[in-house]
Amino acid sequence: FCILAVLGSRHLTHLNSRVLMLLGQLEKLNGEAVLSDAEVSRHITSKILHLIQTQEKTRKEITAKGSSGMEVILASLEVSGGRRVGVLVSKGGTAILLQLLITTSKEWPPSEELMLQLHTILAKVGPKDRKFGIKARINGALNITVSLLKQNLQNHKLLLPCLQVLRVYSANSVNAVSLGKNGVVELLFKIIGPYSKKNTSILKVTLDTLAALLKSKANARRAVDRTYVPTLLAVYQDWHRNDTRHRHVHIRKAILGCIRNITNIKLGRKAFLEADGMRILYSTSTECLSVRTLDPLINTSSLIMRKCFPKNRLPVPTIRSVFHYQLPHIPAEGPVAQLYRQPPDVDDVVDESDDNDDTEADTENDTENEEDEKNHKTQNDDIETDISKLRPKENLTRPLEDLKMYECFFPELSENFQVKVLTSCQTPAVLPKSLAPIVVPTAHAPSPLSLDGPGGAGGAGEGLAQELERVALEEDTLNGQSQSPVVGSLQGELEHDDDCSSHSSGELGVLEVPDTAALLPLHDPELYIDMVKGTKSVPQYTEVAYPDYFGHVAPTFREHILERVYGVQRAKIFQDIERMIHPNDILDKVVYDLDLKRLIDDGESLKFNSQFESGNLRKAVQVRKFEYDLILNSDINSNHYHQWFYFEVSGMRVGSSYRFNIINCEKVNSQFNYGMQVLMYSVQEAISGHPRWVRTGTEICYYKNHFSRSSIAAGGQKGKSYYTMTFTVTFQYRDDVCYFAYHYPYTYSTLKMHLQKLEALRTPQIYLRQDVLCETLGGNSCPLLTITAMPQSSSNDQICQFKNRPYVFLTARVHPGETNASWVMKGTLEFLMSPSPMAQSLRESYVFKIVPMLNPDGVINGNHRCSLSGEDLNRQWQRPSPDLHPTIFHTKGLLQYLSSIQRVPLVYCDYHGHSRKKNVFMYGCSIKETLWQTNVNAAACDLQEDLSYRTLPKILSQLAPAFSMASCSFVVEKSKESTARVVVWREIGVQKSYTMESTLCGCDQGKYKGLQIGTRELEEMGAQFCIALLRLKRLSSPLEFRNSSHFLDVENDLIESRCKVTSSTTYVLDEDEPSFMEEVDYSAESNDEPEPDPDPQETPADEDGLSDSELALRRS
Ligand SMILES: [Zn+2]
Repeated sequence: FCILAVLGSRHLTHLNSRVLMLLGQLEKLNGEAVLSDAEVSRHITSKILHLIQTQEKTRKEITAKGSSGMEVILASLEVSGGRRVGVLVSKGGTAILLQLLITTSKEWPPSEELMLQLHTILAKVGPKDRKFGIKARINGALNITVSLLKQNLQNHKLLLPCLQVLRVYSANSVNAVSLGKNGVVELLFKIIGPYSKKNTSILKVTLDTLAALLKSKANARRAVDRTYVPTLLAVYQDWHRNDTRHRHVHIRKAILGCIRNITNIKLGRKAFLEADGMRILYSTSTECLSVRTLDPLINTSSLIMRKCFPKNRLPVPTIRSVFHYQLPHIPAEGPVAQLYRQPPDVDDVVDESDDNDDTEADTENDTENEEDEKNHKTQNDDIETDISKLRPKENLTRPLEDLKMYECFFPELSENFQVKVLTSCQTPAVLPKSLAPIVVPTAHAPSPLSLDGPGGAGGAGEGLAQELERVALEEDTLNGQSQSPVVGSLQGELEHDDDCSSHSSGELGVLEVPDTAALLPLHDPELYIDMVKGTKSVPQYTEVAYPDYFGHVAPTFREHILERVYGVQRAKIFQDIERMIHPNDILDKVVYDLDLKRLIDDGESLKFNSQFESGNLRKAVQVRKFEYDLILNSDINSNHYHQWFYFEVSGMRVGSSYRFNIINCEKVNSQFNYGMQVLMYSVQEAISGHPRWVRTGTEICYYKNHFSRSSIAAGGQKGKSYYTMTFTVTFQYRDDVCYFAYHYPYTYSTLKMHLQKLEALRTPQIYLRQDVLCETLGGNSCPLLTITAMPQSSSNDQICQFKNRPYVFLTARVHPGETNASWVMKGTLEFLMSPSPMAQSLRESYVFKIVPMLNPDGVINGNHRCSLSGEDLNRQWQRPSPDLHPTIFHTKGLLQYLSSIQRVPLVYCDYHGHSRKKNVFMYGCSIKETLWQTNVNAAACDLQEDLSYRTLPKILSQLAPAFSMASCSFVVEKSKESTARVVVWREIGVQKSYTMESTLCGCDQGKYKGLQIGTRELEEMGAQFCIALLRLKRLSSPLEFRNSSHFLDVENDLIESRCKVTSSTTYVLDEDEPSFMEEVDYSAESNDEPEPDPDPQETPADEDGLSDSELALRRS
């Protein structure tokens, strides 16, 4: 290495015999490559060094033209693998080698052998040196290699190392731009040729280099201008045809790599389509399908085709919700204000701009590490670092006299139990009036069942009109049926119902309701219908979905998380691409459309319906005979949020596989890619004694599709697409009516039914109150429950104990799409009402204040996330509006009232559901743990913080099999500052303030590992939460704590968690309280198998920036 340094300075002639001899020895050693000879070679090289340092003549000799001296020395670097190269790089050898390259190039004529040797070494050194690209540019080496290449296009011996070095240069984005300007793209295209068995390694390096250069948008444009896209496609086809034994997959993949990078720009995609690229890649891929080793080709082809697939608008007139709800006033700012400010015709803007996911920053400027910095930042961006925002907020936002109105919700605090009558505290609620006849929904088999009773007049007005319209539809169906009679058991049983649809007879059909009274003590179909009558929906629904009417009995069999089947996603994507390749095969028949209301039904297609509580299907389009595209309605007063779904299907053929595609999903990823199935409810099964939701569907996957998502609905981000959730179902029964849902439905009417049934569980020991906290925007009441134990006697001691019980405040279902939260809440409520000694002990320990559904309107109207105000209610806790967010305003009011009378709850917990993670877990709040995530350690050291916020989750992790401590987090994020958890912690001062997240999918640990979650497990979770509260009580009582302190090693846990601050489990972007920052790498999504780690020799690490290094290099 020192020799190189000395020699690098000058070149002279003649060799001294002594040096010759030493070089000979070195060469011999290099040849033998015996590691133990390292000492010997060090000895020899040091002698050479001594000679050239002391004798000018020797130096001249060694570097003389025609002398092999340099080669021998350089070759010695290659011995013993990359170890010496690594040392060379670490000692700054790259710059010296580059300098040597410059010096050599100035010789005339330059020494070809030396250039060859230098490039060979540089090709090895380059990939080991992260700053190689920058160093090469600064030293001016780029042009030397390029001109050498230009002069030696036919000289294959020299070509290969030069190209290898060029490939390393090109990995640096600034270099790529500069090389492109110097005509290197064109130069490389001279080397790329048709299929040949010769010089494949040269071709491979050329293609890799080209692919690297084409990452630059300027180079991609250049390639499009020179019409290289058809050239690349032709070359690809040629190799595909001739490489029949698949010896050169790497070359074929490298060609695709070039196409992939060119098509990152709009012009490239246009050129690709014009060159018939879709058809070429589609047919070549189809031919590759049978050979597993060709998967990388298929995957890359599929990626390119999807990128180039022309973007379509969703086939809907507007992306806003079909239903409109007039707000009392439009908020001054926020998403709703934006929505209302837009002119009606610009709500869905399709732009063809480059998707940011797939393109690199154009790097005409030296901004090499900008991307890196950005990526680094997003990881910690959201953590609250402002300590003033983490400290408790003292002043109450509402005056005390204002909070007095909540006193009546706490009669337990003034109750003396001398008089038995409890005063009722209801804010004046408009009594629900029945709007229209309530009809059990149907498709063609069971006709609408009027639940008004025999001779029921049915409602007047709009509701009736809707029903008549529906009747007309039914008759069409029946006509269709009579031509091809299908006799199913359900139809047989329900045949009387046909008369019902004519409305004139008003005869009530006999519907066989499964007898589930014993299994479902809280369910009562008749009561459910009564509840529905009092539920007010914006679309004024007049139907009831069978599953909600019959109820759900959790199946006893296990439902495993699905194994991901190889190649499913790819197959689905190919079917989508075929729509473009064979457009004539596509039916494109609209079979359901909320915007149109009336459709022709020819009996050839499935029938869809979702006009019932929590339903939200907007449109169904039959694409192929057994394939349907489905579009979900946006949340009311919003133009997005689609994830939750609930709809009815009928008119199916038995034994045929139907593919359903929900084409306007928004999340970048979903548990549907990790084993989660949809839920299906078969009315036939229900009638035959199994009323239940069952996990169903095969070939399930979730992927980005070709429907363009307007930037207006994507937070201003351009070039975004929707995602498809696809699943396939084979129906088992004729004339069945089936329902599909994202998760186990739990409607507002179901809640009201359950609450009414809870009354029946009351015993003399139980203190249960049900109040109406307030009325929602949509005119529905928001229930509030108080549960505790009656005082054991009216003695002063007992009354005193009663009045001093700490409060536990629970809420759920602020997000309508998270129905699992309601099932957990159901489990909690049932446990609290149970006669077991443990439940009694729990009731004697606390007073429970529960708001089981914070967002009734959202639930009723089939929203996924928002209330009628078009806002996420779990972002309104800092400043809830009494008009727009009454449930939040008043729930917070209750908490503020408790705080004002020094009765701050011991525990607050808000139940949620999580769509991207498995298990059940909690988010809490800790200043220290938040600050540990950042570098504000100094401030954290002075803080005293009680660690007890960890106790409850810790107990749960020991108690509840679905609960995972590892997924819990106690970090406060900026984006969550207005959530219930953070506001109740900071403003109300509840130290144990949590969000409890239950998976929508299943568990990957504990007793339920590998199983999808069901209502039984969710309800069990709700009960275990109660048991955990009891244990919390016992642990905090000093007598018992002594015995069990070893049981909860909170301190140790904390230390553990502190060690893994960077792990993804401690700090998570939970979807539940989403921040739009999340990005998932979708470039790899079409790879069912991960690509093997690239050889470090092949792909050099990304370059660092210039800032310091450039100066440092210049100095050296
Ligand atoms: Zn949520």
